[in-house]
Amino acid sequence: MSERNQALIELDNIHKSFGDTHVLKGISLNVSKGEAVCIIGPSGSGKSTILRCINGLLPVDEGFVRVGHHRVHEIANEKEMRPLRHQVAMVFQQYNLFPHRTVLDNIMMAPIQVLKHEREQVRERALKLIAKVRLTGKENRYPGELSGGQQQRVAIARALAMQPEIILFDEVTAALDPETVKEVLNTIRELVEEGMTCLLVTHEMRFAREVSHRVCFTDQGRIVESAAPAQLFDAPQDPRTREFLGQVL
Ligand code: ADP
Ligand code: MG
Repeated sequence: MSERNQALIELDNIHKSFGDTHVLKGISLNVSKGEAVCIIGPSGSGKSTILRCINGLLPVDEGFVRVGHHRVHEIANEKEMRPLRHQVAMVFQQYNLFPHRTVLDNIMMAPIQVLKHEREQVRERALKLIAKVRLTGKENRYPGELSGGQQQRVAIARALAMQPEIILFDEVTAALDPETVKEVLNTIRELVEEGMTCLLVTHEMRFAREVSHRVCFTDQGRIVESAAPAQLFDAPQDPRTREFLGQVL
């Protein structure tokens, strides 16, 4: 119980600018272990930037970022960043698979090269992950031979192969054909049900409502409203949230 209540991700008043553009204007957000939090909001509101500050891809200008015991805002170099990157996986809209490697190789590469795990053991785990994302039989296919939804599930299996504690999903279904969106969302739904800590930027409002424990609405670099999905979707408190939901629902 206490473990669940202890925030695994803690953002306190983070600010980020690109040149003169003040993109994050004081973001504070806690995510507990096992919690699935969706971030929704208009394009350009800072959603991807928030994710990139969490895994240290972008340094914050101001504020506090903690992931587990890592005080991310204090990490000064790439070498010190490594343990954080192992703890936090990120899945993107573009799957970024290696086109000349098979499905199995794509999943096995990082655990072997980065974590230096033993090959046979990595292979066994990779095969289990392939089954988990329902791609058994595709082990020796190349990414180009798969549908977008299948490639995205390979990307999720590859993220899981690093045995992360947290997965950040950045609009992972945005580039997919509608008929393959569902299979990717089902994979994510299962991860959430198994208790994986997830932070998801998504335009899939129904998914956000059904799967997440909490939804944050961002606008112009701020979290305008954060609530349980039923509350946020059925009784939004802020006029900006109401306007946005009016456009997308
Ligand atoms: P979202 O994911 O909500 O669409 P982003 O976090 O990608 O928004 O971007 C927020 C704002 O920051 C946008 O105005 C975008 O143009 C700007 N931005 C993001 N990354 C960079 C960058 N590397 N350099 C300059 N501007 C950026
Ligand atoms: Mg984005």
